[in-house]
Amino acid sequence: NLSEKLDKALHVLKGHGQITEINVAETLKEVRRALLDADVNFKIAKEFTNTVKEKALGQDVLTALQPGQLMVKLVKDELTALMGGDVEGINLSGDPSVILMSGLQGSGKTTFSGKLASYLKTKKTKKPLLVACDVYRPAAVDQLLVVGEQIGVEVFSDRGNTDPVAISKAGIAYAKANGHNVVIIDTAGRLAVDEEMMNEIANIHKAIQPQETLFVVDAMTGQDAVNTAKAFNDILNFDGVILTKLDGDTRGGAAISIKSVVNKPIKFIGTGEKMDAIDVFYPARMAERILGMGDVVSLVERAQEQFDEEESRKIQKKIAKNQFGFDDFLSQIQQIKKMGSIKDLMGMIPGAGKALKGLDIDDDAFKHVEAIIHSMTPLERATPAKLDASRKKRIAKGSGRSIQEINQLLKQFDQMSKMMKMMQGGGGKKMMQMMGA
Ligand code: GDP
Ligand code: MG
Repeated sequence: NLSEKLDKALHVLKGHGQITEINVAETLKEVRRALLDADVNFKIAKEFTNTVKEKALGQDVLTALQPGQLMVKLVKDELTALMGGDVEGINLSGDPSVILMSGLQGSGKTTFSGKLASYLKTKKTKKPLLVACDVYRPAAVDQLLVVGEQIGVEVFSDRGNTDPVAISKAGIAYAKANGHNVVIIDTAGRLAVDEEMMNEIANIHKAIQPQETLFVVDAMTGQDAVNTAKAFNDILNFDGVILTKLDGDTRGGAAISIKSVVNKPIKFIGTGEKMDAIDVFYPARMAERILGMGDVVSLVERAQEQFDEEESRKIQKKIAKNQFGFDDFLSQIQQIKKMGSIKDLMGMIPGAGKALKGLDIDDDAFKHVEAIIHSMTPLERATPAKLDASRKKRIAKGSGRSIQEINQLLKQFDQMSKMMKMMQGGGGKKMMQMMGA
């Protein structure tokens, strides 16, 4: 898997102090290959790896204990950000809210219309109406009727009518008259982008001014999806993308390409033919899928858990014996710093994650903490209770930090010790989970 490959690519580094740009480049070649395998557009894959390269070189990733895994994490985070970061919902503010489906024939518009109606129906306040605007194939109307029947949602159709603009308007009027607060308009697609189809969807869009225009695309179409998305977006300036057929082998690289080209959020994914095969789009999950590293995240997590197990065992013992001191604290900080960015890895200090988070600590703040601890005598480090006013004053002078900062550190340290003590007692595991350790 990718993590192993990266570790291998970075293997050369072990034992050498210096990590060079060449090593990073080698690693990122693997990442690029994974992206191309997942059907990500070449240019986009290249841009992406360049960005990651800069970030990797700017961070301490390469001096980490397991550079491969941290690299995977960096790649995954970047990929997630690239695909949108947050989960985006559908605008349902209209009365009724009109949702227009667009996309090529076979992309899954009719199926997704049904899925979305069914999904919204489960929200008690929504009463959707499906409108059949695919006027070219008689079977298209039947298909939507079957779907509606299946999910118990009403379908508006007008078989004699060949004007999708008129049907969509009539459908919205029908919804208003019958208490439907969401209208989902299913439209006709073609096998490829052509002018007639584009004109038609543009006309419907202009006539009904939907709250939400969705572009439905088959994830299996890979690179072609990008061109199609661009063509539809140029005409409709759509609000979101629906990526269907992700239940197949496809890695879903189209998600990245589309997002990069049209810069619109992917809102839902389709994962099967059945009406409940609909999922909210989670960028992080898709990033994992694209990298083919379903297990990588857990690998990284495990690495973090096992983070110097021996060290933490020693510390556990000390806590039990009430011997946990600033020396131990210092060594933990140093361990963490070895592993990379402090902010990412806060949760790794056994029990301390939360206490330190409260401090909103950054790498600089750690430097200050270290300076303070370095200015303590071994006796003071082992028994912080000894720190009286005159000792604090001396430490303040030695470290160049204020008495206030020292007090703050002592307070945090005290809280942390108490917390760790608690975790050692009964229900330790549950406590740990609660604290996010
Ligand atoms: P439309 O032409 O855009 O309306 O596409 P349809 O909704 O008719 O879907 C075309 C075909 O793809 C149908 O056979 C659907 O059952 C199938 N389909 C749609 N979405 C999915 C999906 O998420 N997964 C799978 N496996 N098949 C899907
Ligand atoms: Mg259809």
